[in-house]
Amino acid sequence: MDFSLDSGMQEMIRNVRAFLREEIFPLEPAFLTGPFVDLVPLLEEKRQKVKAMGWWLPQIPSEHGGAGLSLLEFAHISEELGRTPLGHYLFNAQAPDAGNMEILIEHATPEQKDTYLVPLLQGEIRSCFSMTEPGYPGSNPTWMGTMAVKDGEDYVIDGQKWFTTAADGAAFAIVMAITNPEADSRYLRASQIIVPTDTPGFKLVRNISVMGEKGSGYASHGEIVYDNCRVPQSNRLGGEGAGFVIAQERLGPGRIHHCMRWIGICERAFDLMVDWAAHREVAPGRTLGEQGMVQAWIAESRAEIDAARLMVLRTAWRIDQEGSYAARDDISLIKFYVAGVLQRVLDRAIQAHGGMGMTDDTPLAFWYRHERAARIYDGPDEVHKMSVARRIVRRAAERRQGNGR
Ligand SMILES: Cc1cc2nc3c(=O)[nH]c(=O)nc-3n(C[C@H](O)[C@H](O)[C@H](O)COP(=O)(O)OP(=O)(O)OC[C@H]3O[C@@H](n4cnc5c(N)ncnc54)[C@H](O)[C@@H]3O)c2cc1C
Repeated sequence: MDFSLDSGMQEMIRNVRAFLREEIFPLEPAFLTGPFVDLVPLLEEKRQKVKAMGWWLPQIPSEHGGAGLSLLEFAHISEELGRTPLGHYLFNAQAPDAGNMEILIEHATPEQKDTYLVPLLQGEIRSCFSMTEPGYPGSNPTWMGTMAVKDGEDYVIDGQKWFTTAADGAAFAIVMAITNPEADSRYLRASQIIVPTDTPGFKLVRNISVMGEKGSGYASHGEIVYDNCRVPQSNRLGGEGAGFVIAQERLGPGRIHHCMRWIGICERAFDLMVDWAAHREVAPGRTLGEQGMVQAWIAESRAEIDAARLMVLRTAWRIDQEGSYAARDDISLIKFYVAGVLQRVLDRAIQAHGGMGMTDDTPLAFWYRHERAARIYDGPDEVHKMSVARRIVRRAAERRQGNGR
């Protein structure tokens, strides 16, 4: 296993870190206390700067206009970007667009690429991914109610989705819908279909209020009704019934992106906690950092963040070498482990800050609200623990059989 980075990559990481600290951290108070849309013109200027530096789309191959980093290299950049809530957006590496770009690169036809991928890569439009439904368990994603029925050259889509992140203002949705209800395997019943959001029958019912915030634009979660929503069959991505297989391919790299972003958040929270502990006096001449309980939070956080990073880098390295399928246990392990580290580190950092931790004078409270969902989206903790443990036990049973016992 080799996680070493060449000197060019090390320099990029240093420069990205300095850019974010000097130019983006100062924008956070406006982001934390006002509507996101108000900041868009200023962020557009910063995006131009990111393009000029050659950092745009760090996760995308160079033939599509990206920086062409390997997954392991991008993991390091994703950590840097995670240190501010604005980082991934500025580099056009934010969910759900980043995942949709990967799907379109792999599965879109040349016409679909021209219409949807090219403007997405250029940052001219946004997109969303519409799979989870209020009436069905997202933890069991092969079971859903949304149907896409053929009618002449079209599909007619009917169903209800929610938690379609960034639907508000998106140009198109990639919708998961059942096209082959008769297929024997439940993994081969759904397709992914591109639906422009101005299609008649695409109805954004509301931006769901999440943890006290309705959100707007890219920072929103939509409930959508697809009501007799008609799109050409040529809007389907990949083969009919291949929707679930395509989604699975996307999840490995997607989880590396999330986990390294969470580690970036942990590092920023850790820095804030340590800095606060080093100067906040609990009595004249005695700082918070001299208290044993706070020292334990610092030591435990340091150990957990370092362990989490090594696990994620090992997983990224394995995906680069052997593909997502071979790394599926690692992918499940990092998904629930790093999400747990994130919650604990944020909680300790807020506790160390006392009342200050509850304010929006630091990004801690924002992250505490927003990142609670890390233990739920892309598979709840319990589902990942269950699936990885099931495979471990199955392998042990096979070994036992192989030994003739
Ligand atoms: C902030 C946020 C953003 C999201 N963005 C998107 C998006 O862009 N697009 C999209 O399609 N979806 C999105 N989702 C939806 C997300 O993927 C689902 O919420 C998730 O898959 C869980 O599905 P569910 O909410 O239906 O919970 P359920 O499947 O109903 O599960 C509820 C709980 O039951 C438990 N549970 C479930 N199954 C098992 C089991 N087998 N064993 C033990 N316990 C179990 C777990 O604790 C789980 O949390 C988002 C969700 C959130 C919160």
